[in-house]
Amino acid sequence: MTVGVAVLGSTGSIGCSALRVLERHRDRFHVVALTAYDSRERLVQQAQAAQARYVCLVRQDGVESGDGGVVTGPTCLVEAATHPDVAIVLNAIVGAAGLEATLAALRAGKRVALANKESLVMAGDLVMAAARDGGGEIVPVDSEHSAVLQCLAGHGAAGVTRLILTASGGPFREWPATRLHEVTVADALRHPTWDMGRKITVDSATLANKALEVIEAHYLFGLGYDEIEVVVHPQSIVHAFVEFRDRSVLAQVGFPTMELPILYALTHPERLSDDGAPRFNPVAAGVLAFEALRLGDFPAFRLGVVAGRAGGTAPAVYNAANEIAVRAFLEERIAFHAIGEIIEQVLDSHDTSPATDLETVLAADRWARERGGVLCSSAS
Ligand code: NAD
Ligand code: MG
Repeated sequence: MTVGVAVLGSTGSIGCSALRVLERHRDRFHVVALTAYDSRERLVQQAQAAQARYVCLVRQDGVESGDGGVVTGPTCLVEAATHPDVAIVLNAIVGAAGLEATLAALRAGKRVALANKESLVMAGDLVMAAARDGGGEIVPVDSEHSAVLQCLAGHGAAGVTRLILTASGGPFREWPATRLHEVTVADALRHPTWDMGRKITVDSATLANKALEVIEAHYLFGLGYDEIEVVVHPQSIVHAFVEFRDRSVLAQVGFPTMELPILYALTHPERLSDDGAPRFNPVAAGVLAFEALRLGDFPAFRLGVVAGRAGGTAPAVYNAANEIAVRAFLEERIAFHAIGEIIEQVLDSHDTSPATDLETVLAADRWARERGGVLCSSAS
């Protein structure tokens, strides 16, 4: 018997990588369900190639649900995530849209291979509680968090005193602050080491992605914000460092590829033979550099960590304001530097409350989107 997998967001960057990994390991896994927002043609092709039985397109576009075997509408995400034949849900949806499927899968006792870090950022306490209550398990796909997990080698975070997540620094690592006012969309989408979807690529340029990852690490590994640090490492070879109480430090290294953390999220704590990831060669990797973050020039990072520390609804508001501002930037409605400004203004006008239930989190998310939308319009 092979393990049934649902790939949510299968048409995206992580989704396509996941299907390649699953294709190489057909003897262990079979694809049960695939979902996408649009790109119906690609989704149907993927479903045929992987012989997926449940195929879900979120955008309806006047198509009858069930037409050509494709179920449509947003509720199909939860159906895919809780499908009885699915044991592992690989959540590769981008943004807040992934939250409900994460919660539903964990409540249904599934393993969630989580690329959708926004789920944990928006509602970390609720997501962790859903895993406890439903017997589900979260295994990170994010390369830095996969690195931490691999350094912990299944022993958990007891005895860990510090995590140091690496950041490539993005395309503007060496740009002087004054030039950050001239950034174009094409500049921001030119990531030096990773080929990813547009939203996370912009998040990597503003360093918002690293703040999302600090919050993600806080929930996944149960460490306080003072114990989670970030260092810029332009080569993206070292994915994270883990310091233990005797001050020994372990790191996980390798040439940048998401296929390795994806496979590990499917098999943890086991490892499978796989020839998909490039073999590491220290000489070819060359000189590895580490530098401090330029905190003053990339405010989206600091704001995200402040929101994480505040807890409650603040991280959901941060996430939503960021999503709205990034979309406006990608549509050339606001400047690059306005992304941080808009996030800051939205957070400043938010009264943080405890994130006790999903409705509270979704209400905070809606509020921040509306407020952020108004600010984007007046900034453009
Ligand atoms: P992407 O934009 O390439 O793909 C996103 C996928 O989500 C697509 O299949 C799209 O159809 C689907 N989607 C978008 N909006 C949706 C909605 N409203 N409802 C349902 N589905 C929707 O993004 P990506 O780069 O693959 O990133 C996916 C997630 O993985 C993000 O949370 C990102 O932060 C995380 N991640 C990505 C990488 C990477 O290398 N790309 C690395 C680490 C983490
Ligand atoms: Mg990452």
